[in-house]
Amino acid sequence: ASNRTAELLNAAKKHILFTANRPDIVMASGEGMMLYDTEGQAYLDFIGGWAVNSLGHSPAALRDALAKQAATLVHASPGFYNEPQAEFAELLCSVSGMDKAFFTSTGAEANESAVKLARKHGALHLDGAYEIITLKNGFHGRTLAMMSATGKAHWEPLFAPKVNGFMHVPINDLDACFAAVTNNTCAIMVELVQGEGGVHELSEAYLYGLRKICDMYGILLIFDEVQTGLGRTGKLFAFQHYGIQPDILTLGKGIGAGFPLSAMLTKEKYDLFQPGDQGGTYTGQPLGMAAGLAVLRELLGRDLTASADVQGRYLKSKLEELAEELPVANIRGKGLLLAFDVPEGLAPKLSAACMAEGLLVNAPNATTIRLMPALIVEQGHIDEMAAIFGRVFRNILK
Ligand code: PMP
Repeated sequence: ASNRTAELLNAAKKHILFTANRPDIVMASGEGMMLYDTEGQAYLDFIGGWAVNSLGHSPAALRDALAKQAATLVHASPGFYNEPQAEFAELLCSVSGMDKAFFTSTGAEANESAVKLARKHGALHLDGAYEIITLKNGFHGRTLAMMSATGKAHWEPLFAPKVNGFMHVPINDLDACFAAVTNNTCAIMVELVQGEGGVHELSEAYLYGLRKICDMYGILLIFDEVQTGLGRTGKLFAFQHYGIQPDILTLGKGIGAGFPLSAMLTKEKYDLFQPGDQGGTYTGQPLGMAAGLAVLRELLGRDLTASADVQGRYLKSKLEELAEELPVANIRGKGLLLAFDVPEGLAPKLSAACMAEGLLVNAPNATTIRLMPALIVEQGHIDEMAAIFGRVFRNILK
């Protein structure tokens, strides 16, 4: 490694908190499907910033919108409307079928906003009900409340006390969910495809059942589409695969295509916050709004959602080819949010070995490889990915 890279690595290791297992490289630049480190090594990126860089790296649409907005107005105050905010909220509501938006920066904050809105609904309309049913193996973020909503057992003793009011039920078990509903329930919150949990889809029957339970008791259905939203699954929103509408929809990751942006959307009848109930210095901030607006226009204009569907099917077919020859099992997912299983313990090794060969794939656990490339991915990239992955896997098995 060059002196420059060695210095950067020293400084990073000394001063960056150890919150992730990071390899000894420093990312320097990106373009399209490629990332480049400070040594000039190129990486074909099938992690896509963890389902964030939907338009690829440093896309012109985002760069130009940010530059233009930065030259016009960077920040006014959350106490004023601004131009891109009004335009973005209108467009986002029109494509999602929702009525009202609240903007934040991270997925966890969007979900916090959803939980607060559901609790206020409970306080006003359900005799103070505050409990929210979520799914085992789900993921909703790392703030204290979202850790409690996520319910990973190993977090509990480390960050106690947890925030009260979250119940966890098994995925796709409608009877269990029905049994968990009490007078104290105000909402059910689910991902449509559990992303961090290893790419597990909720069944259509289950989702219909959840909608029915919510309608029956007047409790709110919250879809956390932080990972599945904005074209990722081959529909603009994953709920559009089923024709079921949520009462609250949360978005993050791909909504800013790399700019930190998230949103909570709801229906007119749940416009329940009063000034001061929810907010934040950067809510609806002009740079973020300009970014979101440009990204959504680009997604729609280039029909990248349809492309995610087509390329996702092609990627799946290439994985099925690999599975004929290699221990690749249980290929699953929708659009460009795909995963498969490999023999126990091999996933992190495969991910590291692929990186050494210039390919980035994600291992969310010891047996799962997850793929979530940019929605601009083309057949040529997929062919190359499959070729590198196959070669690396054969080597590891030798
Ligand atoms: N919800 C889901 C479904 C997610 O996948 C994530 C991030 N992996 C989050 C919420 C949290 O988002 P953030 O890290 O931006 O807070």
